[in-house]
Amino acid sequence: MNTADPRSARIILLDDDALMLLLLARMLKQLGYTNVVTCNHGEQALRQLDGPGAPADLIMLDINMPEMDGIEFIRRLAACRYAGSLILVSGEGGRVFDSVARLIEAQHLNALGHLHKPVQPEQLAALLRRLQPNAGVGTLQRATPHAYDAEELRAAIVGGQLVNYYQPKVALETGEFVGVECLVRWQHPRDGLVFPDQFIGLATEQGLIAELTKAVVTAALQQAKAWGREGHRVPIAVNVTMDDLTALDFPDVIEALTAAADIETQLITLEVTEGQMQRSLSTVLDVLSRLQLKRFQLAIDDFGTGHSSLAQLRDLPFDELKIDRSFVHGATEDTTRQAICIASIRMAHQLRMQVVAEGIETRDDWDLLRHLGCDAGQGYFIARPMPAAALIEWLTKWHAQYGAAVPLQA
Ligand code: C2E
Ligand code: MG
Ligand code: MG
Repeated sequence: MNTADPRSARIILLDDDALMLLLLARMLKQLGYTNVVTCNHGEQALRQLDGPGAPADLIMLDINMPEMDGIEFIRRLAACRYAGSLILVSGEGGRVFDSVARLIEAQHLNALGHLHKPVQPEQLAALLRRLQPNAGVGTLQRATPHAYDAEELRAAIVGGQLVNYYQPKVALETGEFVGVECLVRWQHPRDGLVFPDQFIGLATEQGLIAELTKAVVTAALQQAKAWGREGHRVPIAVNVTMDDLTALDFPDVIEALTAAADIETQLITLEVTEGQMQRSLSTVLDVLSRLQLKRFQLAIDDFGTGHSSLAQLRDLPFDELKIDRSFVHGATEDTTRQAICIASIRMAHQLRMQVVAEGIETRDDWDLLRHLGCDAGQGYFIARPMPAAALIEWLTKWHAQYGAAVPLQA
Protein backbone atom coordinates (compact mmCIF):
# COMPACT_ATOMS: atom_id res chain seq x y z
CA MET A 1 0.00 0.00 0.00
CA ASN A 2 1.18 3.48 -0.75
CA THR A 3 1.93 4.89 2.68
CA ALA A 4 0.69 8.33 1.73
CA ASP A 5 -2.75 7.17 0.68
CA PRO A 6 -4.56 4.40 2.54
CA ARG A 7 -7.04 4.20 -0.32
CA SER A 8 -4.40 2.50 -2.45
CA ALA A 9 -4.76 -0.49 -0.08
CA ARG A 10 -5.22 -3.84 -1.77
CA ILE A 11 -8.40 -5.35 -0.47
CA ILE A 12 -9.67 -8.89 -0.90
CA LEU A 13 -13.37 -9.51 -0.50
CA LEU A 14 -14.34 -13.06 0.34
CA ASP A 15 -17.98 -14.06 0.38
CA ASP A 16 -19.90 -16.92 -1.22
CA ASP A 17 -22.73 -14.53 -2.02
CA ALA A 18 -22.10 -12.85 -5.40
CA LEU A 19 -24.55 -10.05 -4.68
CA MET A 20 -22.78 -9.25 -1.42
CA LEU A 21 -19.46 -9.10 -3.24
CA LEU A 22 -20.91 -6.63 -5.72
CA LEU A 23 -22.43 -4.47 -3.02
CA LEU A 24 -19.27 -4.32 -0.94
CA ALA A 25 -17.05 -3.64 -3.96
CA ARG A 26 -19.36 -0.78 -4.94
CA MET A 27 -19.31 0.65 -1.43
CA LEU A 28 -15.53 0.48 -1.33
CA LYS A 29 -15.33 2.18 -4.70
CA GLN A 30 -17.52 4.99 -3.46
CA LEU A 31 -15.18 5.39 -0.50
CA GLY A 32 -12.25 5.67 -2.90
CA TYR A 33 -10.85 2.15 -2.58
CA THR A 34 -10.40 0.77 -6.07
CA ASN A 35 -7.70 -1.86 -5.64
CA VAL A 36 -10.25 -4.54 -4.77
CA VAL A 37 -10.36 -8.23 -5.67
CA THR A 38 -13.45 -10.35 -5.12
CA CYS A 39 -13.38 -14.07 -4.32
CA ASN A 40 -16.22 -16.47 -3.69
CA HIS A 41 -14.13 -19.28 -2.25
CA GLY A 42 -11.44 -19.46 0.42
CA GLU A 43 -8.97 -21.30 -1.81
CA GLN A 44 -9.32 -18.59 -4.40
CA ALA A 45 -8.54 -15.92 -1.81
CA LEU A 46 -5.52 -17.83 -0.52
CA ARG A 47 -4.24 -18.12 -4.09
CA GLN A 48 -4.63 -14.36 -4.43
CA LEU A 49 -2.36 -13.93 -1.44
CA ASP A 50 0.19 -16.40 -2.54
CA GLY A 51 3.16 -15.25 -4.50
CA PRO A 52 5.35 -12.19 -4.70
CA GLY A 53 4.00 -8.90 -5.90
CA ALA A 54 0.53 -9.52 -4.57
CA PRO A 55 0.43 -8.32 -1.00
CA ALA A 56 -3.00 -7.74 0.50
CA ASP A 57 -3.54 -5.10 3.11
CA LEU A 58 -7.02 -6.13 4.10
CA ILE A 59 -9.29 -9.12 3.77
CA MET A 60 -13.01 -8.70 4.33
CA LEU A 61 -14.32 -12.09 5.20
CA ASP A 62 -17.74 -13.67 5.44
CA ILE A 63 -17.46 -16.14 8.31
CA ASN A 64 -20.33 -18.28 7.16
CA MET A 65 -19.45 -19.92 3.87
CA PRO A 66 -19.96 -23.44 2.55
CA GLU A 67 -16.88 -25.65 2.00
CA MET A 68 -14.09 -23.62 3.57
CA ASP A 69 -15.85 -21.55 6.23
CA GLY A 70 -14.46 -18.38 7.74
CA ILE A 71 -12.97 -20.18 10.72
CA GLU A 72 -11.03 -22.60 8.59
CA PHE A 73 -9.94 -19.71 6.40
CA ILE A 74 -8.64 -17.87 9.46
CA ARG A 75 -6.73 -20.93 10.56
CA ARG A 76 -5.13 -21.21 7.12
CA LEU A 77 -4.28 -17.50 7.16
CA ALA A 78 -2.63 -17.86 10.54
CA ALA A 79 -0.70 -20.92 9.39
CA CYS A 80 0.66 -18.81 6.56
CA ARG A 81 1.44 -15.94 8.91
CA TYR A 82 -0.77 -13.43 7.11
CA ALA A 83 0.22 -10.04 8.47
CA GLY A 84 -2.44 -7.79 6.94
CA SER A 85 -5.74 -6.80 8.50
CA LEU A 86 -9.11 -8.53 8.66
CA ILE A 87 -12.68 -7.35 8.79
CA LEU A 88 -15.35 -9.93 9.54
CA VAL A 89 -18.66 -9.66 7.77
CA SER A 90 -21.58 -11.82 8.74
CA GLY A 91 -25.24 -12.23 9.30
CA GLU A 92 -24.44 -14.16 12.48
CA GLY A 93 -24.63 -12.42 15.79
CA GLY A 94 -23.10 -12.40 19.28
CA ARG A 95 -21.62 -15.73 20.22
CA VAL A 96 -20.27 -16.61 16.79
CA PHE A 97 -18.58 -13.26 16.45
CA ASP A 98 -17.18 -13.54 19.96
CA SER A 99 -15.63 -16.89 19.28
CA VAL A 100 -14.22 -15.90 15.94
CA ALA A 101 -12.81 -12.73 17.50
CA ARG A 102 -11.11 -14.85 20.17
CA LEU A 103 -9.72 -17.17 17.54
CA ILE A 104 -8.30 -14.22 15.65
CA GLU A 105 -6.71 -12.89 18.81
CA ALA A 106 -5.28 -16.27 19.70
CA GLN A 107 -3.77 -16.55 16.24
CA HIS A 108 -2.21 -13.10 16.56
CA LEU A 109 -4.06 -11.84 13.50
CA ASN A 110 -5.00 -8.22 13.20
CA ALA A 111 -8.77 -7.67 13.16
CA LEU A 112 -10.08 -4.18 12.53
CA GLY A 113 -13.58 -5.14 13.64
CA HIS A 114 -16.72 -6.69 12.29
CA LEU A 115 -19.71 -5.69 10.22
CA HIS A 116 -23.21 -7.07 10.35
CA LYS A 117 -25.12 -7.63 7.14
CA PRO A 118 -26.68 -5.56 5.71
CA VAL A 119 -23.48 -3.54 5.80
CA GLN A 120 -23.86 0.19 6.30
CA PRO A 121 -21.40 2.39 4.36
CA GLU A 122 -20.71 4.59 7.42
CA GLN A 123 -19.72 1.57 9.49
CA LEU A 124 -17.47 0.32 6.74
CA ALA A 125 -15.84 3.74 6.43
CA ALA A 126 -15.28 3.86 10.19
CA LEU A 127 -13.46 0.51 10.18
CA LEU A 128 -11.39 1.44 7.15
CA ARG A 129 -10.09 4.48 9.01
CA ARG A 130 -8.32 1.99 11.30
CA LEU A 131 -6.42 0.54 8.38
CA GLN A 132 -2.78 1.39 9.02
CA PRO A 133 -0.76 2.43 6.04
CA ASN A 134 1.87 -0.28 6.18
CA ALA A 135 3.42 -1.10 2.89
CA GLY A 136 3.25 -4.70 1.80
CA VAL A 137 2.45 -6.13 5.21
CA GLY A 138 -0.06 -8.51 3.80
CA THR A 139 2.27 -10.91 2.06
CA LEU A 140 2.20 -14.49 3.17
CA GLN A 141 5.49 -15.28 4.76
CA ARG A 142 5.74 -18.92 3.87
CA ALA A 143 9.49 -18.76 3.68
CA THR A 144 9.82 -17.95 7.38
CA PRO A 145 7.27 -20.03 9.26
CA HIS A 146 9.31 -19.49 12.44
CA ALA A 147 11.47 -16.66 13.55
CA TYR A 148 14.10 -19.19 14.62
CA ASP A 149 15.61 -22.18 12.91
CA ALA A 150 16.19 -25.68 14.19
CA GLU A 151 19.97 -25.39 14.41
CA GLU A 152 19.76 -22.27 16.51
CA LEU A 153 17.28 -23.94 18.83
CA ARG A 154 19.30 -27.12 19.09
CA ALA A 155 22.38 -25.09 20.00
CA ALA A 156 20.32 -23.22 22.60
CA ILE A 157 19.12 -26.44 24.22
CA VAL A 158 22.60 -27.95 24.31
CA GLY A 159 24.22 -24.65 25.27
CA GLY A 160 22.01 -24.05 28.28
CA GLN A 161 20.13 -21.03 26.93
CA LEU A 162 16.79 -22.37 28.12
CA VAL A 163 15.73 -21.13 31.54
CA ASN A 164 12.84 -22.27 33.63
CA TYR A 165 10.43 -19.81 35.13
CA TYR A 166 8.08 -20.94 37.88
CA GLN A 167 4.52 -19.86 38.49
CA PRO A 168 2.91 -20.61 41.87
CA LYS A 169 -0.37 -22.48 42.28
CA VAL A 170 -2.43 -22.01 45.41
CA ALA A 171 -5.49 -23.66 46.96
CA LEU A 172 -8.44 -21.35 46.31
CA GLU A 173 -10.19 -22.20 49.57
CA THR A 174 -7.30 -21.39 51.89
CA GLY A 175 -4.69 -19.61 49.81
CA GLU A 176 -2.20 -22.29 50.71
CA PHE A 177 0.71 -22.72 48.31
CA VAL A 178 0.40 -26.07 46.53
CA GLY A 179 3.22 -26.02 44.00
CA VAL A 180 4.62 -24.39 40.88
CA GLU A 181 4.31 -24.85 37.16
CA CYS A 182 7.59 -24.82 35.31
CA LEU A 183 7.45 -22.64 32.17
CA VAL A 184 10.41 -22.59 29.87
CA ARG A 185 11.88 -19.45 28.30
CA TRP A 186 14.75 -19.02 25.88
CA GLN A 187 17.34 -16.51 27.03
CA HIS A 188 18.29 -15.52 23.52
CA PRO A 189 21.61 -13.70 23.12
CA ARG A 190 20.11 -11.27 20.59
CA ASP A 191 16.39 -11.16 21.30
CA GLY A 192 16.28 -11.37 25.08
CA LEU A 193 13.69 -13.54 26.78
CA VAL A 194 11.73 -15.52 24.19
CA PHE A 195 8.41 -17.14 25.16
CA PRO A 196 7.58 -20.78 24.51
CA ASP A 197 4.98 -20.10 21.82
CA GLN A 198 7.92 -18.96 19.68
CA PHE A 199 9.82 -22.24 19.85
CA ILE A 200 7.84 -25.20 21.26
CA GLY A 201 6.11 -25.72 17.91
CA LEU A 202 9.45 -25.56 16.15
CA ALA A 203 10.95 -28.05 18.59
CA THR A 204 8.06 -30.43 17.98
CA GLU A 205 8.27 -30.16 14.19
CA GLN A 206 12.01 -30.54 14.12
CA GLY A 207 12.21 -33.56 16.38
CA LEU A 208 13.86 -31.57 19.16
CA ILE A 209 11.09 -31.83 21.72
CA ALA A 210 12.48 -34.87 23.55
CA GLU A 211 15.77 -33.09 24.04
CA LEU A 212 14.01 -29.90 25.12
CA THR A 213 11.80 -31.74 27.60
CA LYS A 214 14.80 -33.51 29.04
CA ALA A 215 16.64 -30.21 29.52
CA VAL A 216 13.61 -28.58 31.14
CA VAL A 217 12.88 -31.54 33.41
CA THR A 218 16.51 -31.91 34.45
CA ALA A 219 16.72 -28.24 35.41
CA ALA A 220 13.38 -28.41 37.23
CA LEU A 221 14.51 -31.44 39.23
CA GLN A 222 17.74 -29.71 40.19
CA GLN A 223 15.68 -26.77 41.31
CA ALA A 224 13.38 -28.97 43.37
CA LYS A 225 16.45 -30.46 44.99
CA ALA A 226 17.89 -27.02 45.74
CA TRP A 227 14.62 -25.88 47.29
CA GLY A 228 14.54 -29.11 49.27
CA ARG A 229 17.98 -28.38 50.69
CA GLU A 230 16.62 -25.02 51.87
CA GLY A 231 13.78 -26.83 53.59
CA HIS A 232 11.03 -26.19 51.03
CA ARG A 233 9.14 -29.10 49.60
CA VAL A 234 7.94 -27.68 46.27
CA PRO A 235 5.77 -29.81 43.98
CA ILE A 236 6.63 -29.00 40.37
CA ALA A 237 4.51 -29.40 37.24
CA VAL A 238 6.27 -29.61 33.89
CA ASN A 239 4.68 -29.43 30.45
CA VAL A 240 5.00 -32.31 28.05
CA THR A 241 3.58 -32.77 24.58
CA MET A 242 1.98 -35.80 23.01
CA ASP A 243 5.17 -36.27 21.03
CA ASP A 244 7.05 -36.88 24.27
CA LEU A 245 4.47 -39.50 25.15
CA THR A 246 4.93 -41.44 21.95
CA ALA A 247 8.42 -42.52 23.04
CA LEU A 248 7.96 -45.79 24.88
CA ASP A 249 11.02 -45.22 27.06
CA PHE A 250 9.83 -41.81 28.26
CA PRO A 251 8.67 -43.13 31.69
CA ASP A 252 12.05 -44.77 32.27
CA VAL A 253 14.00 -41.71 31.18
CA ILE A 254 12.04 -39.40 33.41
CA GLU A 255 12.10 -41.81 36.33
CA ALA A 256 15.89 -42.09 36.05
CA LEU A 257 16.23 -38.29 36.03
CA THR A 258 13.97 -38.01 39.06
CA ALA A 259 15.88 -40.69 40.94
CA ALA A 260 19.22 -39.08 40.07
CA ALA A 261 17.99 -35.83 41.62
CA ASP A 262 16.74 -37.74 44.64
CA ILE A 263 13.19 -36.42 44.26
CA GLU A 264 10.04 -38.42 44.96
CA THR A 265 8.04 -38.97 41.80
CA GLN A 266 4.85 -37.86 43.59
CA LEU A 267 6.29 -34.35 43.66
CA ILE A 268 6.28 -34.15 39.86
CA THR A 269 3.19 -33.50 37.75
CA LEU A 270 3.29 -33.88 33.99
CA GLU A 271 0.92 -31.50 32.21
CA VAL A 272 -0.14 -32.85 28.87
CA THR A 273 -1.31 -30.69 25.96
CA GLU A 274 -1.80 -31.23 22.24
CA GLY A 275 -4.45 -33.34 20.66
CA GLN A 276 -3.98 -35.64 17.68
CA MET A 277 -3.23 -38.56 19.90
CA GLN A 278 -5.57 -40.88 18.10
CA ARG A 279 -2.78 -41.91 15.75
CA SER A 280 -0.88 -43.61 18.55
CA LEU A 281 -3.38 -43.97 21.33
CA SER A 282 -2.05 -47.31 22.46
CA THR A 283 1.49 -45.97 22.85
CA VAL A 284 0.31 -42.89 24.73
CA LEU A 285 -1.83 -45.05 26.98
CA ASP A 286 1.09 -47.35 27.65
CA VAL A 287 3.36 -44.41 28.52
CA LEU A 288 0.84 -42.56 30.68
CA SER A 289 -0.16 -45.70 32.56
CA ARG A 290 3.45 -46.50 33.32
CA LEU A 291 4.06 -42.94 34.48
CA GLN A 292 1.14 -43.32 36.80
CA LEU A 293 2.44 -46.65 38.10
CA LYS A 294 5.65 -44.84 38.90
CA ARG A 295 3.54 -42.36 40.90
CA PHE A 296 4.02 -39.31 38.72
CA GLN A 297 0.96 -37.04 38.75
CA LEU A 298 -0.73 -36.47 35.39
CA ALA A 299 -2.64 -33.36 34.44
CA ILE A 300 -4.66 -32.59 31.34
CA ASP A 301 -3.69 -29.03 30.38
CA ASP A 302 -5.75 -26.32 28.65
CA PHE A 303 -8.89 -28.32 29.17
CA GLY A 304 -11.75 -27.19 26.98
CA THR A 305 -9.60 -26.01 24.08
CA GLY A 306 -9.16 -27.90 20.86
CA HIS A 307 -6.04 -29.48 22.30
CA SER A 308 -7.59 -31.26 25.24
CA SER A 309 -10.85 -33.02 24.90
CA LEU A 310 -13.38 -35.28 26.50
CA ALA A 311 -12.04 -38.20 24.51
CA GLN A 312 -8.70 -37.80 26.26
CA LEU A 313 -10.43 -37.84 29.63
CA ARG A 314 -12.30 -40.96 28.65
CA ASP A 315 -9.20 -42.78 27.49
CA LEU A 316 -6.40 -41.60 29.71
CA PRO A 317 -5.67 -41.75 33.43
CA PHE A 318 -5.39 -38.13 34.58
CA ASP A 319 -5.19 -36.94 38.20
CA GLU A 320 -5.72 -33.28 37.54
CA LEU A 321 -7.63 -31.11 35.10
CA LYS A 322 -6.50 -27.58 34.27
CA ILE A 323 -9.27 -25.35 32.99
CA ASP A 324 -7.94 -23.18 30.20
CA ARG A 325 -7.58 -19.54 31.07
CA SER A 326 -9.85 -18.47 28.23
CA PHE A 327 -12.76 -19.81 30.31
CA VAL A 328 -11.57 -18.51 33.64
CA HIS A 329 -10.67 -14.87 33.40
CA GLY A 330 -13.81 -12.79 33.11
CA ALA A 331 -16.15 -15.69 33.91
CA THR A 332 -18.03 -13.50 36.38
CA GLU A 333 -19.44 -11.40 33.57
CA ASP A 334 -19.78 -14.13 30.99
CA THR A 335 -22.40 -16.81 31.45
CA THR A 336 -20.91 -19.04 28.76
CA ARG A 337 -17.50 -19.15 30.41
CA GLN A 338 -19.11 -19.64 33.76
CA ALA A 339 -21.15 -22.59 32.50
CA ILE A 340 -17.99 -24.19 31.12
CA CYS A 341 -16.17 -23.72 34.44
CA ILE A 342 -19.09 -25.21 36.37
CA ALA A 343 -19.34 -28.21 34.07
CA SER A 344 -15.58 -28.81 34.02
CA ILE A 345 -15.29 -28.69 37.81
CA ARG A 346 -18.24 -30.98 38.32
CA MET A 347 -17.03 -33.49 35.79
CA ALA A 348 -13.48 -33.50 37.12
CA HIS A 349 -14.71 -34.10 40.64
CA GLN A 350 -16.96 -36.91 39.49
CA LEU A 351 -13.90 -38.46 37.89
CA ARG A 352 -12.03 -37.89 41.17
CA MET A 353 -9.63 -35.41 39.66
CA GLN A 354 -8.29 -32.20 41.17
CA VAL A 355 -9.18 -29.03 39.27
CA VAL A 356 -6.84 -26.11 38.71
CA ALA A 357 -8.06 -22.88 37.13
CA GLU A 358 -5.52 -21.10 34.96
CA GLY A 359 -5.71 -17.37 34.29
CA ILE A 360 -6.92 -16.11 37.67
CA GLU A 361 -6.23 -12.48 36.88
CA THR A 362 -8.56 -10.67 39.26
CA ARG A 363 -10.11 -10.95 42.64
CA ASP A 364 -13.44 -11.63 40.92
CA ASP A 365 -11.94 -14.59 39.06
CA TRP A 366 -10.63 -15.97 42.35
CA ASP A 367 -13.89 -15.50 44.23
CA LEU A 368 -15.98 -17.06 41.50
CA LEU A 369 -13.79 -20.12 40.97
CA ARG A 370 -13.49 -20.64 44.70
CA HIS A 371 -17.25 -20.38 45.03
CA LEU A 372 -17.64 -22.94 42.24
CA GLY A 373 -15.50 -25.41 44.18
CA CYS A 374 -12.37 -25.28 42.05
CA ASP A 375 -9.48 -26.69 44.07
CA ALA A 376 -6.53 -24.57 43.02
CA GLY A 377 -5.71 -21.54 40.94
CA GLN A 378 -2.87 -20.02 39.02
CA GLY A 379 -2.63 -16.63 37.38
CA TYR A 380 -1.41 -13.07 37.45
CA PHE A 381 -3.59 -12.21 40.45
CA ILE A 382 -1.57 -14.70 42.48
CA ALA A 383 1.81 -14.33 40.80
CA ARG A 384 3.38 -14.13 37.38
CA PRO A 385 5.89 -16.76 36.32
CA MET A 386 9.22 -15.86 37.96
CA PRO A 387 12.83 -16.99 37.97
CA ALA A 388 13.57 -19.68 40.54
CA ALA A 389 15.54 -17.25 42.66
CA ALA A 390 12.44 -15.13 43.31
CA LEU A 391 10.14 -17.92 44.48
CA ILE A 392 11.05 -18.23 48.15
CA GLU A 393 10.79 -14.50 48.71
CA TRP A 394 7.39 -14.52 47.03
CA LEU A 395 6.36 -17.47 49.16
CA THR A 396 7.36 -15.75 52.37
CA LYS A 397 5.38 -12.65 51.47
CA TRP A 398 2.42 -14.71 50.38
CA HIS A 399 2.34 -16.66 53.61
CA ALA A 400 2.59 -13.47 55.57
CA GLN A 401 -0.41 -11.91 53.88
CA TYR A 402 -2.76 -14.45 52.38
CA GLY A 403 -4.69 -15.36 55.49
CA ALA A 404 -5.85 -11.80 55.93
CA ALA A 405 -5.87 -10.44 52.43
CA VAL A 406 -6.99 -12.85 49.81
CA PRO A 407 -8.83 -16.03 50.32
CA LEU A 408 -10.86 -16.00 53.45
CA GLN A 409 -13.74 -13.90 52.29
CA ALA A 410 -17.15 -15.48 51.95
P1 C2E B 1 0.38 -23.54 29.79
O1 C2E B 1 1.02 -24.79 30.22
O2 C2E B 1 -1.11 -23.53 29.73
O3 C2E B 1 0.92 -22.42 30.76
C1 C2E B 1 0.20 -21.32 31.18
C2 C2E B 1 0.52 -20.11 30.36
O4 C2E B 1 -0.35 -19.07 30.77
C3 C2E B 1 1.93 -19.57 30.59
O5 C2E B 1 2.33 -18.95 29.38
C4 C2E B 1 1.71 -18.51 31.66
O6 C2E B 1 2.70 -17.54 31.68
C5 C2E B 1 0.40 -17.95 31.22
N1 C2E B 1 -0.36 -17.36 32.32
C6 C2E B 1 -0.31 -17.68 33.62
N2 C2E B 1 -1.18 -16.96 34.35
C7 C2E B 1 -1.81 -16.14 33.49
C8 C2E B 1 -2.83 -15.14 33.64
O7 C2E B 1 -3.34 -14.86 34.71
N3 C2E B 1 -3.23 -14.52 32.51
C9 C2E B 1 -2.69 -14.81 31.29
N4 C2E B 1 -3.13 -14.13 30.24
N5 C2E B 1 -1.72 -15.73 31.11
C10 C2E B 1 -1.30 -16.40 32.20
P2 C2E B 1 3.75 -19.22 28.75
O8 C2E B 1 4.78 -19.32 29.82
O9 C2E B 1 3.93 -18.25 27.65
O10 C2E B 1 3.59 -20.67 28.17
C11 C2E B 1 2.73 -20.92 27.11
C12 C2E B 1 2.60 -22.40 26.85
O11 C2E B 1 3.84 -22.94 26.39
C13 C2E B 1 2.28 -23.19 28.09
O12 C2E B 1 0.91 -23.11 28.35
C14 C2E B 1 2.73 -24.58 27.68
O13 C2E B 1 1.74 -25.23 26.91
C15 C2E B 1 3.90 -24.28 26.78
N6 C2E B 1 5.14 -24.53 27.52
C16 C2E B 1 5.75 -23.79 28.46
N7 C2E B 1 6.86 -24.39 28.92
C17 C2E B 1 6.93 -25.59 28.26
C18 C2E B 1 7.86 -26.69 28.31
O14 C2E B 1 8.82 -26.74 29.07
N8 C2E B 1 7.59 -27.73 27.48
C19 C2E B 1 6.52 -27.76 26.64
N9 C2E B 1 6.34 -28.82 25.87
N10 C2E B 1 5.64 -26.75 26.59
C20 C2E B 1 5.85 -25.67 27.39
MG1 MG C 1 0.80 -26.12 31.56
MG1 MG D 1 -2.67 -24.33 30.22
